[in-house]
Amino acid sequence: MKLLRNTVIVLVLLVIALWLAIKVPAVQNHVYERAIKMRLFATLQEEKEDTLSATVCGSGSPLASNSAQACILIKAGEDLYVVDVGDGSVANLSRWNTPFEDVKAVFITHNHSDHISDLADLHLMTWVTRERESKLTVYGPEGIEDVTKGFEMTYKHDYEFRNAHHGDLVTPLDVVGFNPITIQDESVIFDNGDLQVTAFRVEHEPVDPAYGFRFDYKGRSIVISGDTNYSTNLIKNSQKADVLFHEAISLDLTRRMSKTLADLGEEFDNNIARYGSKIFTDIENYHATPLEVAEIASLSNVDMLVYYHLTPTPQPPIDKIMADIIFRGVDENFSNWEYAIDGTKVILPINSKKIIFNK
Ligand SMILES: [Zn+2]
Ligand SMILES: [Zn+2]
Repeated sequence: MKLLRNTVIVLVLLVIALWLAIKVPAVQNHVYERAIKMRLFATLQEEKEDTLSATVCGSGSPLASNSAQACILIKAGEDLYVVDVGDGSVANLSRWNTPFEDVKAVFITHNHSDHISDLADLHLMTWVTRERESKLTVYGPEGIEDVTKGFEMTYKHDYEFRNAHHGDLVTPLDVVGFNPITIQDESVIFDNGDLQVTAFRVEHEPVDPAYGFRFDYKGRSIVISGDTNYSTNLIKNSQKADVLFHEAISLDLTRRMSKTLADLGEEFDNNIARYGSKIFTDIENYHATPLEVAEIASLSNVDMLVYYHLTPTPQPPIDKIMADIIFRGVDENFSNWEYAIDGTKVILPINSKKIIFNK
């Protein structure tokens, strides 16, 4: 009994001492420096194995959620490629200590806002202190030049202010801005000997053209759907890929939301209630349903299917319930599937059939 009492007293004294210690400026400085070192150390310790990997930097859709919008970071060997860059995705990449100097190019599936809105931040992160040798290369569909020119015009003053403040060493004006490359049609749009990126058309009318991308690296492969309805062309281009990342819309959930909004619209004078129902009906015809996606994965003979860019996106505290509703019946059509959240990572080591999945 006495031992227990003494132990409690010692513990209480320790907690008080710790609480007092973290109020001391020198201790606070030390803790902060240590945290910075640990963060940098984590970055420098990144795996050196030769792999093709995909990290979901944005799993969400334009519907309000805590997830960033569409974004997948592809790593092929030491090089990085960003596929779509929706709102919040660059904040994710920054939080994860992404070595932005390794970003070789950006691939945009289509010019919807939830796929391009963070381009300015990605540009900033790959420009300041990154010793970039040229402007940021952005592959995209027709219209991509308008998009990059628009960002350059909007950020012209920002570029000048930063250069005036930090100088050419840190913020060189000769490589500021974008190098847009318009995808002409379906083809291998990038090939550095080890990595081939193929663009293929998908169904997202009235957005036309809209593309999906296939990444082939030393015998491993990842396909990213972009936004699409059921697409036979995607099935053709995904054949025997290791992993297919595919978007989806849950009509079960959107129709429920639509009905709730329509009911509310009759009760309240509110724009979301008034127009939300129409928007949900409009978007039904340009996304694939989870069951269609399972069928697509099966017909594509892929090893693994990862749902991403879900409309709506499962959100805590009811994420598990939402996921149960969204994926009802999927198991019967395709067994090896998962759905992505921000940070989900798939690693494919070369000379192997292994698929490492981390949620
Ligand atoms: Zn989208
Ligand atoms: Zn879209």
